[in-house]
Amino acid sequence: MRLANSGGRASMVVDGGIIDVATATDGAFGPDLTSCIARIDDLAAAMDGVSGPVLALDHASLGPPSPDPSQIIAIGMNYASHAEEMGLEVPSMPAAFAKFRSALTGPVGTISLPSDTVDYEVELVLVIGRRTEAVTPENAWEHVAGITAGQDFSERTVQMAAGRQFALGKSYPGFAATGPWMTTIDEFADPSDVGLGCSIDGVVVQDARSSDMIIKIPELLTILSGIITLEPGDLLYTGCPAGVGMGKNPPTYLKPDQELVTWVEGVGEMRHQMA
Ligand code: ZN
Repeated sequence: MRLANSGGRASMVVDGGIIDVATATDGAFGPDLTSCIARIDDLAAAMDGVSGPVLALDHASLGPPSPDPSQIIAIGMNYASHAEEMGLEVPSMPAAFAKFRSALTGPVGTISLPSDTVDYEVELVLVIGRRTEAVTPENAWEHVAGITAGQDFSERTVQMAAGRQFALGKSYPGFAATGPWMTTIDEFADPSDVGLGCSIDGVVVQDARSSDMIIKIPELLTILSGIITLEPGDLLYTGCPAGVGMGKNPPTYLKPDQELVTWVEGVGEMRHQMA
């Protein structure tokens, strides 16, 4: 199923619109998103066969599909092509960093550029569905509720000035964009091989497949969960492929009035205006 945050209410996306989860289940699920994410299998079973009432889908009302994560974790240098363009070595451990929660935003709206060195990074983002502690590659996917599209906006001057402590440069307001909704894992033919990309004013700048990740998702969750505990609703940005502005010669960063469209295959697209 596709689970959206429509005006703060858990909503199932269907052809022609959305169905409000709390209404359709007589309050058994929702309207808050996190409790739905934590019981995603039960919710999918409850919504199976529900065909209405269908409400209009208003894209402007869409918020982040997981609006209240206890943590937002991101992985750097997880595509060889991107590590190369950044001039950074591929690490032997996941280069994990935090994006602070105040950076979270949804799939539409305006991003205020704090400088002229803000970059884009399309990423496949995992929404954690259950407590994830010391998982194995074999059961790692069972802990993922779904996949959403993400932008890991990055202020490169702050990022690189802070001794490679990436968190601040990647946590300005709106710098953790997610959406347009979360698609559950069962909807993907192969959740380890999903297309992702983004375009600026219609020009495609990143276009890749998640199968090119260096540390694959099962191994990533195994390593991370051996150290930290992930909770339902937590977000994991899994790394960005080649094509960022910093990798160009000369570097080409986001400018006011540009429109950035970000997509993940099987999920959908986000649209953000730069200001
Ligand atoms: Zn990133």
